[in-house]
This record gives sequence, C-alpha cells and structure tokens, in this order.
Amino acid sequence: MTARDFDAIIIGSGPGGSTAADVLTAAGWSVVIFEKGRNHLIDVADPSRLTNDFSNDEIKFMARHFLGPDPLLEPRTFRSSEDDGERTHTGEVNTVPSTVGGGGTHADGKVPRFREDDFRLLSEQGPMDGATVADWPIAYDDLEPAYAEAERLIGVAGEAGANPFAARRSGPYPMPPGAPMYGALLTSAAAEKHGWNPYPAPTAVNSVPYDDRPACNNCGFCAFFGCPIHAKGDPVASLRRALMTGRAQLRAETFVSRIIVNNGRATGVEYIGPDGVTRTERASHVILAAGGLETPRLLLLSGFEHQLIGGNLMFHYQTYVMGIMPMRVHGHKGRSVTHVHDDFIVPDLDSTAAARDAGLPWFKGGMVEHAGAAHPLTEAKLAPWGSAHKDTMRRSQMREHLWGFCMQGEDLPQLTNRVDLDPAVRDVRGFPAIRVTYKPHKHEQVASDYYAAQMEDCLRTAGAEVTFVATSPGLIGPIPISRHVAGTTRMGRDPATSVCDEWGRVHAAPNVVVADSSLFPTGAGYGPTLTLVALAIRNMRALASERGG
Ligand SMILES: Cc1cc2nc3c(=O)[nH]c(=O)nc-3n(C[C@H](O)[C@H](O)[C@H](O)COP(=O)(O)OP(=O)(O)OC[C@H]3O[C@@H](n4cnc5c(N)ncnc54)[C@H](O)[C@@H]3O)c2cc1C
Ligand code: SF4
Repeated sequence: MTARDFDAIIIGSGPGGSTAADVLTAAGWSVVIFEKGRNHLIDVADPSRLTNDFSNDEIKFMARHFLGPDPLLEPRTFRSSEDDGERTHTGEVNTVPSTVGGGGTHADGKVPRFREDDFRLLSEQGPMDGATVADWPIAYDDLEPAYAEAERLIGVAGEAGANPFAARRSGPYPMPPGAPMYGALLTSAAAEKHGWNPYPAPTAVNSVPYDDRPACNNCGFCAFFGCPIHAKGDPVASLRRALMTGRAQLRAETFVSRIIVNNGRATGVEYIGPDGVTRTERASHVILAAGGLETPRLLLLSGFEHQLIGGNLMFHYQTYVMGIMPMRVHGHKGRSVTHVHDDFIVPDLDSTAAARDAGLPWFKGGMVEHAGAAHPLTEAKLAPWGSAHKDTMRRSQMREHLWGFCMQGEDLPQLTNRVDLDPAVRDVRGFPAIRVTYKPHKHEQVASDYYAAQMEDCLRTAGAEVTFVATSPGLIGPIPISRHVAGTTRMGRDPATSVCDEWGRVHAAPNVVVADSSLFPTGAGYGPTLTLVALAIRNMRALASERGG
C-alpha cells in the first residue's frame, strides 16, 4: 500500500472509528486510521497480539493521564453561558481518553440499545420550550440489524427478555451475563419491592471466552482503567479485525489538524505526525470519528460553516443517590456496574403530573445504574492522617459500605449548549482549544429531583443508614462529568436544520462521513456507545455498497 492510495482516512480510533475500519476493510477498502493519542492497545506489526500495558494502577490511570489527554497540553475551556464572559474554567472538561481505542479502552462498557420511542421523541412527547427536541431521521427498525451485529462484533453479555422496557430484539445476546456484584443484588431486591424491574446490565465485557479473548475476572478496576486481560471487547475486537485484513494502517500520535475540502468534496487531510512535521494525506473519503467534542472542533478548524456545528451539545444529567450500608457490600470488586433498571425512562401519569406542577409538559429520567465506588488510593486521599487514617482504611467506608444509584438522565438538546473554538486558549500544537458552553434545562433538574427521592427511599429499603444525593452538573460542579457526549453535528434530512444527512454524510461535503455520537438528534437516557457503533455499521456498509464493496 503506497502512501496515497487509501479509500478512506479515518480520524479517531475509538468505538466509532474502529467500527468504521472494521466494516470498510471487510468490504475490501483500504483505510488509514489517524489517532492523536498513543498506542497502548495493539501490536501494529502483529495485530493478533494485544499489548500488556494496562494494570490495576490508580496513579497511572487516575493521576498521570496514562491514556491522555493531559489537560495541561490539551486544555478545554468551559462556561455555563455567554453571560459568564469568555470562560470560567480552563483545563479538564469531560475528558474521554485520547489513545488508540479512545474511550472504549477505559469505559466499563454498559451498552444498552435505545428504545423505539427514543428515535421519535418529538412525536411521542411533544416540544419543550427552550429545547430543540427532534425526531431522528431513522427509526429503531432501521437500526435493529446493526444493533444485533454490533453486539456480536464487540461481544456483549446480557439477558434478552430480562428488561420489560427493552426494544424489540431479533435474537439473544452473544454471551450470558457475567457474575453479579453483591451490592447490586441487594439494591435489585429492594428495587423489586418498589415495583421496579432491575436486570443484568448488557455489557461489552466477556462473561465467557469469546473472540479469542478471555472472560473477565472481575478485577474491580474497570471504569477508568484499561483491561489488563482484554476482556473488554469495544473497540479492541473491531480494531484487531481491521488491522488483520492487511488493508488498514494505524498511525498513532498523529493529530489531524484540517480536512481539506475543494468544491464541496474532501480530498484528504492535513496532519501532524509524531515527529512534529505537518504533512497531507489523500483519500476518496474522510470518516470523522473524533468523538462528540473533537468532531465539531475539527469541522470548525477546517472552515466548515453551519450554525449547528457544535450546537445541541448533550451530556447526561447524572443523579447520584448514595448510601452507607451496614453490611460489607464489596463495591470495589467486580465490574463497575452489573445491574440497572429502566423504570424511569418512560413518562407515566405520576411523572407527567409532577412535570405539569413544575410547569413542564413532560419529563424523562434515564437508565439507573446500581453501583458502589472508590479504589484504595481514592479513599486514602480523603482519609485523615495518623491513626485515624489507619482506622478509616481498615473500616473501608467508601470501598466496602458505600453503595447506591446513578441515573443517566436524558439531557435535552439546546441551541445555546455548544462546542466552539476558544478565542484565546490554544493546545500544545497551537490550535484553538475546545470551548464548552453548557447549562442544563429545567427538564433535567426537575426529573432528577423527582426520581432522586424515589431512589433514596429504595436505598433505605436495601438497608442504607444514611443517604445523600449529588448531581452532575450541580453539587459536583457546573461542568458535566458524564463522559457521554452527543448532538454536535445533528443528522437530519433538511440541510437547514442538520449538519449531516441520515447516513452521517456532511451536507456541505458528502464524502466526509461522521461516525460518532455527534450525529444524535436526541441523547436518550442510555449510554451512547452501542448506538454510535450500530450507526457506524449501518452507515459504513451503505458507503461501501455505493462503491460495490
Ligand atoms: C470511565 C468511562 C466510562 C464510560 N462508560 C460508558 C458506558 O458504560 N457506556 C457507554 O455507552 N459509554 C461509556 N463511556 C463513554 C464512551 O467511552 C464513549 O461514548 C465512546 O468512547 C465514544 O466513542 P467515539 O469513537 O465516538 O469517540 P472516542 O472514544 O472519544 O474516540 C475518539 C478518538 O479520536 C481521537 N481524536 C480526536 N481528535 C482527533 C484528531 N484531530 N486527530 C486524530 N485523532 C483524534 C481521540 O484521541 C480519541 O481516541 C464511558 C467513558 C468513560 C471515560
Ligand atoms: S473488571 Fe473485568 S473487564 Fe473490567 S478491567 Fe477487570 S478484568 Fe477487565
């Protein structure tokens, strides 16, 4: 393969970019994947070999930015609204790893599908003042085959039929659920007493050996850590398959600074390699999978103009309801989340009455994760010094007795919530930093208050002696910490009200195809990853078939 004969340049090697590489190489395309982060995942010389760079090391992963990005080198800025001035914060803003594999490397990988009604929120629930609620240009049924394929390709463990709120499925999960966490069994039993329907979280983690990778050993260092044994399938599985075809090149530590467009068609990209030299690469297509914040940034850096690029930014409004349990719950063991419930996803008569009391037409919550918290050093940092420190660590309040819920509340799109280029702050390479302007809608706050009270009751039923509530944004600070980002290049049929079409193609340059959650018109109350992977499968397959691939 010479340097200039690629069918596609893929920008970003996270779940979106890796999926694109997998589908396109399987269709015979040659691709080059540019990834600005380092490679700790796979041996590019022999892609059948996965690397051994990951470990259960809190300092490496939590403090030293092993998977990047370092906020001193790649700062982002934040403000709640334009009234705050140019920014109120510079540094870390909703960081997802910048590394080969992207956020998939250290997500704990809960991968539920969206429901049928998530694709038609405007039609189902109606408009909301101040929010740009919309229907998707595709329906659940358009995506169902790709959802099934995504679960098979990345390897998802779950139990079909266990969740009464789940969308229709054409088949079972590829693997049964993994071992449950003890705390989750306690809160699941309590949730059932409250009339809710907890079920094993669908997870992109092997519960049995699958795809030549071992079963998870429940090491307890899952969210925020790379998996030392590669039991997490997303995006390792796709990337490895793509590289093993011999039709994909992976270039790590390579930052794409511009998509080159002439007369409404991209001809290639400009990039800065590990040697710091700027070069160009040409290809017939550019697949943009840089993630919900970096994808709009790159479009803006490349001179694309559309008022919706960066707009309608959504996170999840996270409601944490935690309690101190009298018994040891072993929250620091196992995968980070093994059980969830979806009972707050569908508005009912009571929630609609509460919405009306608050002056809203309706509200929705989100999937509720049953989870504990903390690792030894995190707890040690909060413990007092001296003998009190030893006592605190021995009692292990955080690791052994803290348990609760986290609701991934649906965050409505708003035009004023957006990503743009900071007018003054620049990254280490000299390019304008991402600026996030974000303030939650009243919808999210009212839904959070309503469901938090119910979750506190349930936690007391499970035995909690003390309970407390925190939200993000909110008590935890104004900057959302959900790491679920969507909406910033909305897809739709009308170029006036969308950046991309229903196949992810940028209206202004249709051979630039977005393959991440930037496309989502609405965010649902579920993590975005399986849906963005399914969209990438559907859209890449369509692209390949246009060329007879
Ligand atoms: C701790 C944690 C837990 C999570 N848990 C879940 C979960 O349970 N369920 C769920 O659905 N989601 C979860 N997420 C979110 C999940 O990681 C993201 O949804 C997912 O990674 C998005 O995939 P992506 O491919 O769109 O983008 P990313 O994973 O962000 O990948 C984009 C890649 O592009 C690279 N890139 C960006 N700009 C450029 C450029 N200009 N040039 C070259 N490369 C570039 C980045 O370095 C990055 O590696 C979690 C995230 C974290 C951090
Ligand atoms: S809990 Fe399982 S999947 Fe998660 S890092 Fe440990 S071994 Fe890997």
